[in-house]
Amino acid sequence: MNIATHPFDALMEITSRPQAVFVRGEGSFLWDDSGKRYLDFIQGWAVNCLGHSPPVVAEALAAQSKLLLTPSPAFYNGPSLKLAKALTDHSCFDQVFFANSGAEANEGAIKLARKYGALHRSDAYEIITFEGGFHGRTLATMSASGKKAFEPLFEPKVPGFPKAQLNDLASVERLISDKTIAVMLEPIQGEAGVWPATPKFLRELRDLTKAHGLLLIVDEIQTGMGRTGKLFDYENAGIEPDIMTLGKGIGGGVPLAALLATEAVSCFEHGDQGGTFNGNPLMCAAGLAVLQAVAESCFLKSVTDTGLYLESELQRMSARHGLGEVRGRGLLLALDLRMPIAASIVAQAFEDGVLLNAPRPDTLRLMPALNVTREEIAAIIDALDAILTRMGAARRVA
Ligand code: PLP
Repeated sequence: MNIATHPFDALMEITSRPQAVFVRGEGSFLWDDSGKRYLDFIQGWAVNCLGHSPPVVAEALAAQSKLLLTPSPAFYNGPSLKLAKALTDHSCFDQVFFANSGAEANEGAIKLARKYGALHRSDAYEIITFEGGFHGRTLATMSASGKKAFEPLFEPKVPGFPKAQLNDLASVERLISDKTIAVMLEPIQGEAGVWPATPKFLRELRDLTKAHGLLLIVDEIQTGMGRTGKLFDYENAGIEPDIMTLGKGIGGGVPLAALLATEAVSCFEHGDQGGTFNGNPLMCAAGLAVLQAVAESCFLKSVTDTGLYLESELQRMSARHGLGEVRGRGLLLALDLRMPIAASIVAQAFEDGVLLNAPRPDTLRLMPALNVTREEIAAIIDALDAILTRMGAARRVA
């Protein structure tokens, strides 16, 4: 199909997209319908943890699709039981509720914390969240997010989300009152530009929340499922939260998300939570295939090693071009460009067949497949080097 004949206008214009239509993906590569190949360091927005269309996920989907798609969320099915058990076996949590998107999982976490507050803390309902945080695009999760651009939108917001500063314990302490039930954060603020919470801050936050009888909710939608070299990033800080949400990588490319809680906190009653497609066997079969691959200790070790390699290559490139710091953990990394040139780098990279993301005007974010190879990393560094050299030359001429 020729680009000119695509019915672009039939889709709501919710973001600016390049004029290309993608038709195929394999590992770290995507192809558009003109046959152009792209090296992909966006991977569905940190979704395809095993790369595009990994055979284990394709096979699990094909096999499950021949057996059972959706019996009804009011009946048990095998894959959701197996996946819930595997997730609880691999984490500090005891129970799971499956959702279809990260935002929906976070809505569930917010509801669970409020329910816990109603039952155990005289209807306390406030959840302290963080400036710069991102938790999704439903009304409650936009309200919980600390994204400046969301502030004027869709008023009135859902109340009850006072904002603290990341890595500043006193700013959290100041917001605690008898209305507070929980503190919720991403261990690394991804959408804001890859700003990690320090392990020390996470440990102190755990102690503070425990001392005040508050729940600690970690949104691991971007950091979970091996992205930072541990199955879940909270493990890097050596803490045990009360609630965790997962999304993105958990389905390896299909819409699956999860809300996990400890037994003490898992207090939903019949009628409180549900959803037509939640925990359907097709998505859970994909989730099981992903978890089996990612939870292998040699796989997680390779994420750590590859992450350190990408980080050091980015640092060397940054030094060559006089750019700024490299932030992040594992394979969720950002390069500070020190100048608002990220959008033009992303556009030039697209032309050169490389897919990159710019969460801020001065920041590039890299979130490749967790099984990305060193050759693919070398290729992205070469491509970026070439773009930065061209841009540097153009700036000198101007
Ligand atoms: N939480 C975090 C940390 C995210 O990065 C995202 C998506 O980028 C979400 C929540 C929302 O997930 P979804 O887009 O699947 O609703």
